Amino acid sequence: IMRESYASENDVGFKCINPDVGPIVIVGGAGKLGTLFSQLFRLSGYEVRILDKDDWPNADAILDGAGVVVVSVPIHHTNAVIAQLPTLPKECVLLDLTSIKQAPLAAMLSKHQGPVVGLHPMFGPDLSSLAKQVVVVCHGRDEARYQWLLEQIRIWGARLHEAPASEHDQAMQLVQAMRHFTAFVYGAHLRRERADLDQLLQFSSPIYRLELAMVGRLFAQDAKLYGDIIFSQPDTLARARHYMDRYQEALKMLEHGDKAGFEAQFNDIADWFGDFAKQFQSESGNMLLSANDNRSE
Ligand code: NAD
Repeated sequence: IMRESYASENDVGFKCINPDVGPIVIVGGAGKLGTLFSQLFRLSGYEVRILDKDDWPNADAILDGAGVVVVSVPIHHTNAVIAQLPTLPKECVLLDLTSIKQAPLAAMLSKHQGPVVGLHPMFGPDLSSLAKQVVVVCHGRDEARYQWLLEQIRIWGARLHEAPASEHDQAMQLVQAMRHFTAFVYGAHLRRERADLDQLLQFSSPIYRLELAMVGRLFAQDAKLYGDIIFSQPDTLARARHYMDRYQEALKMLEHGDKAGFEAQFNDIADWFGDFAKQFQSESGNMLLSANDNRSE
């Protein structure tokens, strides 16, 4: 019900928290996430201007009087694009939506003397509503001067999670880099085994159907974005090697028919998950029910 009430709000627009602010300029605004945010700002009554890659000759005019500059370009261009910005009005809020936070935040703080904040929407652009979606907020400078903007994002339905950029980037190693990397490897495995996806769907338990959906949806998206997420953090290689070590250890148990060892480790991990295991079981139970209701066939 929450979700529906937000979705229908989209048609009529959102309350505007700061009607007096200058134009919102979205650098990379012709892209996927930029388009979503330009719609949200427009639906809230703000003037939105786009500065995409061919617009730099007109950058001064586009940025003239800007109240907010949002950087939403591919990760590997982010630092260069921030450096390329002309001097912004002192009171302008400079923010970015990049999937990594430390480097862009540092680049913005050195570029601009005024308010700076790093945001990471923890969702893709294929959403009709931000209801209950998480946006990570990494404070940069002059927090009081962009509170209105955070309030605006809350009005769109999102939940804000504040964290230091270093903590965010570290969490993203598991939440994104490793998650996407292992999905990539599983996709590669299915491809190499010439798995019959149609047949797998026929044989799927609800949880395996969800697994296929989780892996398969990766390949409906942009190789460059996921390449950037996996390759842009120097830690990912070491993390992936640790993961390989765990896989090798498990493989050894299998090789030696060590079922008792498997069970002992299983129980040890279960203890470590503790109450979360039960919580995840009941949460996924609900997901599976609604996934089953929403199946396309
Ligand atoms: P995208 O490729 O759809 O859009 C990027 C836009 O930037 C394009 O319109 C491109 O023309 C433009 N651009 C490229 N170089 C430019 C330059 N030098 N100057 C101005 N514009 C330039 O990518 P996206 O998926 O919208 O991702 C944009 C940012 O959002 C990335 O930093 C990504 O990490 C972040 N992000 C994406 C998602 C997602 O699921 N797509 C989710 C969270 C965060």
